[in-house]
Amino acid sequence: MKIAIIGGGAAGMTAASRIKRLQPKWEVRVFEKSPYVSHAPCGIPFYVGDVVKNFRNLCTYDTTFFKEERGIEVNNSLEVDEVGDGYLVAGGKEYEWDKLLFATGSKASKLNVENEDLEGISCVNYIEHGKKVKVWAKDAEKVVVIGSGYIGVEMTEAFLKIGKKVTVIELKEHPLPEYDAEIGAILKAEMGKLVNLRLNEKVIAFEGKDRIEKVITNKGEYECDMVVIAVGIEPNVELAKQLGVKLGKSGAIATNSKMETSVENVYAAGDCAESLNVVTKKMDWIPLATPANKMGYVAGVNMADYLIEYPGSLKSQITGFYGLEIGKAGLSEKEAVEEGFDVVSSFITSRTSAKYMPNGIIHLKIVADRSGKVLGVQCIGKDVAKRIYGASALLYKGADVREFFFTDFPYYPPESRVWDPLVIVARNLFRKLGIP
Ligand SMILES: Cc1cc2nc3c(=O)[nH]c(=O)nc-3n(C[C@H](O)[C@H](O)[C@H](O)COP(=O)(O)OP(=O)(O)OC[C@H]3O[C@@H](n4cnc5c(N)ncnc54)[C@H](O)[C@@H]3O)c2cc1C
Repeated sequence: MKIAIIGGGAAGMTAASRIKRLQPKWEVRVFEKSPYVSHAPCGIPFYVGDVVKNFRNLCTYDTTFFKEERGIEVNNSLEVDEVGDGYLVAGGKEYEWDKLLFATGSKASKLNVENEDLEGISCVNYIEHGKKVKVWAKDAEKVVVIGSGYIGVEMTEAFLKIGKKVTVIELKEHPLPEYDAEIGAILKAEMGKLVNLRLNEKVIAFEGKDRIEKVITNKGEYECDMVVIAVGIEPNVELAKQLGVKLGKSGAIATNSKMETSVENVYAAGDCAESLNVVTKKMDWIPLATPANKMGYVAGVNMADYLIEYPGSLKSQITGFYGLEIGKAGLSEKEAVEEGFDVVSSFITSRTSAKYMPNGIIHLKIVADRSGKVLGVQCIGKDVAKRIYGASALLYKGADVREFFFTDFPYYPPESRVWDPLVIVARNLFRKLGIP
């Protein structure tokens, strides 16, 4: 059996490893256009911010490991240009496949404005971008970051940590626009202390002779030595379209719970694929690392003629900005309303440990429907990860506010409270839902 996998990132290499483990005699070949496999784009901000010193550490394993330890044929620095029924073409050579996996990831969205290709402007989608940006940053004094989703926020912190003057330009009214305004306002206040934060502002052009000199918006002009564009991503689906694979509403590849596509023996996993959102119960596009790895695992098992189903994910996420941890599991209130839910919500500010102990502050928001089913939790402040981990587990099981309230979160004075903030915020919804 000949297996071809296009893309050697999280999803592709997880699938390849699974198939080879379950079917050692099969030929498993990975095609990766960059020189790297099992790379970690999530580490780019920490590499640029000098927390990770060695670029090589951004790859979990190298090609030699996959070839020698796992018996996987890794063709790196080889782009697939064409895919047809039972064959693909890469580097002018034709390869046959019996089963195929699209694990082509995503690509950075463009602004589509004048001079976007000037030297000194980059996205940070692949680790090679991180390498280039770090070199540029050495000689730069002023940096503009466009977009303040989690990647924009993490890159902003990275540049601040290496002593750059940063301007952040965001189209929406607060940073992390996926979050609700209460959370965004707290981050906005913190970011505003350290960077020139320009909100409700639209980039309309770049200016420069040989390289970037100025960013022009609808409200002003910002001189700079380099620019990072982080305004979103799109699924990489050109090859899948070529093969006639069906796309979902989001534009990513439509899949079922086995990660099968509409074409027999063709699978898709990771950022290029749709999967189930366990809160909305609809197919969704959730381009994050943990779902990508698990989708790759599921695709690999099923491609190897075993059976496992992918139950979906929640879009659970954590990010940070200096001392602030920020996280979200499930839907924000605005997302829930857009999805047509009739919602109730509560927002609280709480201590993270017993009153008599040194304390941190956490702000939490919970969103539920009128039946009491919790739809999402967002937090900002200290010890956010703990609460997002707890909330993710409960949301995954479809818990309601009572189950959030009665979950037995442990208590130890320096680390938690008798009434955990997650319990308090859930209880706050009791009155709104008529629960005594
Ligand atoms: C800066 C940054 C920070 C992030 N931080 C987090 C985080 O903290 N937490 C989190 O959950 N997620 C994070 N993510 C998202 C996470 O990195 C992705 O969800 C994950 O990498 C997706 O894995 P994938 O295998 O689907 O795609 P990728 O890792 O993008 O791999 C796809 C691969 O396909 C290759 N490819 C594409 N087309 C072809 C072709 N025609 N021929 C050959 N090869 C091809 C590409 O070169 C690429 O290597 C971050 C992303 C970025 C950019």
